[in-house]
Amino acid sequence: MEKIWANSGDSHLVEPDDLFARSLPADLAARMPRSDKDADGRWETVHVDGASFRRQLPRPRQLVDPETGATVDERAPNANDPLLRLQDLDGEGIWAELVYPSIGIWTSSITDPGLLREGMRAINDWAVGYQAVSPRYVCTASIPLLRPEDAVAEIERCAALGYKAAFFPVAAPSGGDDWHTPVWDPVYAALEANGILLSFHIGTEPHDASTSHGAYYRGPGGALLNYVETTYGGQRATTKLIAAGVFDRFPDLRIIVSEGGATWGPFIADRLDEGYRQHGSAVRPLLRKMPSEYLYSNVYASFQHDRSAVAAVTAMGWRNVLWGSDYPHIEGTYGHTQKTLHELFDDVDEATRRRITVGAFEELFPHVPPAPSS
Ligand code: MN
Repeated sequence: MEKIWANSGDSHLVEPDDLFARSLPADLAARMPRSDKDADGRWETVHVDGASFRRQLPRPRQLVDPETGATVDERAPNANDPLLRLQDLDGEGIWAELVYPSIGIWTSSITDPGLLREGMRAINDWAVGYQAVSPRYVCTASIPLLRPEDAVAEIERCAALGYKAAFFPVAAPSGGDDWHTPVWDPVYAALEANGILLSFHIGTEPHDASTSHGAYYRGPGGALLNYVETTYGGQRATTKLIAAGVFDRFPDLRIIVSEGGATWGPFIADRLDEGYRQHGSAVRPLLRKMPSEYLYSNVYASFQHDRSAVAAVTAMGWRNVLWGSDYPHIEGTYGHTQKTLHELFDDVDEATRRRITVGAFEELFPHVPPAPSS
């Protein structure tokens, strides 16, 4: 079977357990996110700044090694080590990756601006070393978003360190101003000026007592309801930026929504255009272009398995669609990446396949060496 090489628009670091302990004063380190897993590995307790909440962990599927017959967990063993990780990627056919934090995602639950600022600096100073191991790693900077001036300062510091992307939770900090308010314009300006991709990852709403993290529903169908629910945050964030005219003011700003599928883009573009036309007398601000034009030019999205995602490019005309592995998370393709890529692309024309597997990523990150030709 021919090997298909693909870049990933959605991958994750696994931070070392002692990251904060070795880089922050003890009183601050103790308040940064930390996960304690139960002995049976089925639940974890996440502690963040004095609060904690329980989370059920997905059970890894079991794979049978074809050579030895041994049963192994379908969970990537090498993700913690940037050199061993390259072996995993080579085996899977994954070339370059946009790499998000893992435990760092819980930082959206921090409410103390000073703690957040120092914690994010610690994550970024560590992750830049991970990125330096290989040009195949494009790590996202973690941005302290409780105060826009802190965010701007860290964006500028990270740009100087060599970051090309910044991770943003899909929801603005609790109790603060939302992504469509002008409070964030200096942040968008800093991202645009430094050529930093604004990278939304789905499922990153802050924890609060009413929802638990990502657990909006209980009862029949709860797991599936919650899984689908996590995708909407990325769509909301995108809609806010377009509707508020962010791309009018910052036309070179580009955003990606990782892990949330692809066909939602054209759907939202249609709804925005209809609203813009039919409710025109109520629309503020007016935009220089139709909303769909911003969606089709400034917004990118990554998916893992979605059978319909290729049609977002071929049938709906949205070219900014990237495949993503979600390595090493359980929602991802580790252990079956080639099977997934062949199922997605064997019946697809070469230009479309190249656009989704490598081209859109190369457009976002022209500094990354090209994938081996496949
Ligand atoms: Mn992901």
